[in-house]
Amino acid sequence: MQVRHISPNIYKLSIWIGLPISLWAVKEEDGLTLVDTGIKQMGKGILKEIDRLKLGPLQRIVLTHGHPDHTGAIERLRADRNIPVYAHPLEIPYMEGEAPYPDKKKASVLVRPGLVQSLEKADGELSGIGSLKPFLTPGHTPGHLVFYHQEDDVLLGGDLFTSSRKGKLRRPIPLFTANMPLAVASGSIVKLLQPELLSLCHGTDIRQPHKQYDIYAEKWEKK
Ligand SMILES: [Zn+2]
Ligand SMILES: [Zn+2]
Repeated sequence: MQVRHISPNIYKLSIWIGLPISLWAVKEEDGLTLVDTGIKQMGKGILKEIDRLKLGPLQRIVLTHGHPDHTGAIERLRADRNIPVYAHPLEIPYMEGEAPYPDKKKASVLVRPGLVQSLEKADGELSGIGSLKPFLTPGHTPGHLVFYHQEDDVLLGGDLFTSSRKGKLRRPIPLFTANMPLAVASGSIVKLLQPELLSLCHGTDIRQPHKQYDIYAEKWEKK
């Protein structure tokens, strides 16, 4: 597993299986938050790296969305301890297999029903998770979230975009994206937040992504 220290409080853990699959470990005062978990086979390696880097204890997991390359290792990571797992409430029925994702014919159970908790508070706002502030960015999936780390000025973008090797913004993977025009529109979050660094699950990280957004949107909006 490749580990990159992308900002003072954030590590990006990746493997390569024809494309990169990544997740993030975020240091907090009380231990560690994982953003996504990668595929099932990554569970053991993630625990090893957390140990090696002395980042623990693992306190919580937050999910950008329910696809199996983001939720696969949840059970392994929780095998020893009942750490909480959070996601957007719009996403939970799809990951629990209650309904098929809008671009799929069949529903599949990607997480054990009842395990994942909603990030929505009684007033309808989303709760922050330690240093991370979630933003709903639908399109790739209906309840896709990105997480902004203000102190480090880093946006953890999940599958909101992919990127070229040279760090050019690209669309999320079309085969797995439910609503591409909406995903492209949701990408405008980078203009709102203007993070110094955008980190992606399936691609090279991008400095100052807001400078590229207009060209990106113009290219893909109508496709
Ligand atoms: Zn995805
Ligand atoms: Zn993905």
